Amino acid sequence: MARALGSAGPRVLLALLVTWLLAGACGGAGDEQGRGGAGDTRGTDGDRLAIATTVAPITSIVANIAGDRADITGIVPEGTNSHTFEPRPSVAELLSSVDVVYLNGLGLEEPTRELAEANLADGAEMVELGTLALPEEEHIYDFSFPREEGRPNPHLWTDPPLALRYAEIVAGDLAARDPDDAEYYRGNLEAFEGIVGGLDAAMRQSFATIPDGQRKLLTYHDAYAYFARDYGWEVIGAIQVSDFEDPTPKDVAALIGQVEAEGVPAIFGSEVFPSPVLEQIGREAEVAYVDVLRDDDLPAGPGDAEHSWLGLMRFDYVTMTEALGGDATALRELRVANVAPDEAEYPQ
Ligand SMILES: [Zn+2]
Repeated sequence: MARALGSAGPRVLLALLVTWLLAGACGGAGDEQGRGGAGDTRGTDGDRLAIATTVAPITSIVANIAGDRADITGIVPEGTNSHTFEPRPSVAELLSSVDVVYLNGLGLEEPTRELAEANLADGAEMVELGTLALPEEEHIYDFSFPREEGRPNPHLWTDPPLALRYAEIVAGDLAARDPDDAEYYRGNLEAFEGIVGGLDAAMRQSFATIPDGQRKLLTYHDAYAYFARDYGWEVIGAIQVSDFEDPTPKDVAALIGQVEAEGVPAIFGSEVFPSPVLEQIGREAEVAYVDVLRDDDLPAGPGDAEHSWLGLMRFDYVTMTEALGGDATALRELRVANVAPDEAEYPQ
């Protein structure tokens, strides 16, 4: 019987994670604690963990931590609308054969979550990284993700400190499932922490060059709310409404007025969601319309270092910095090297 850890007990898992990290820091052997069957499924098909993930940035984060000790299959193909994606029924077979599914949760991948719930093998589990990473009181609800619909903005991974939380949760969970390799996962987590630290420093250095009052985002797809909160940016609007329809003409007129009043030099569309409306707003407000942001579609191609969570972050934040009049040299010079490459396969 599969259970979603995200709803079953985030505090329990976090407490175990903290215990595990502390034990490691003291050189103790604190890895034996079981987690109600975690690890039992390992070994049924050899000694490698079988992992399923959902969106590509999560796949990349998991790949960085799991390294060469697991086989990873991503379920949500890049370049699709991950918020509405429905896996083919054939994915059920994959889900019935994995030890663990790492997903975002917070309502992002409901059809995949439901398919997993129905098909996971005994002892296999779902781990909802977004649900575990952030306490409910810190959830952000906004125009595209209104509170009354009960689903917070799910885009935690575009905020580096929260992406690091994802990595910490994955490392703790993998160590519990596969105690023999606990040191390996801990080492990968430490290396990933270094990567996030370097990215964070380059982001702050680049953002500091954006003229005062211009660290503002009008986006089409609302994927940067937690980032904005942590890095002192202001989301002045996101025009994709919760049902993925276009805004009304009245909303559009109001947004044009707002863009003019805010004095931003650019507004941002998303590569996966072409938006003639945002293009129109840019034209009428006479600001640049930059339509290349990505929230879960990684740059470059499989096998390239840029085809990773880190590459995605660098791409988006270089794009924002330069379009808003800043100098992104620090980010451009950041070396994009992952702890481990993403070699995940996707079912067709
Ligand atoms: Zn999204």
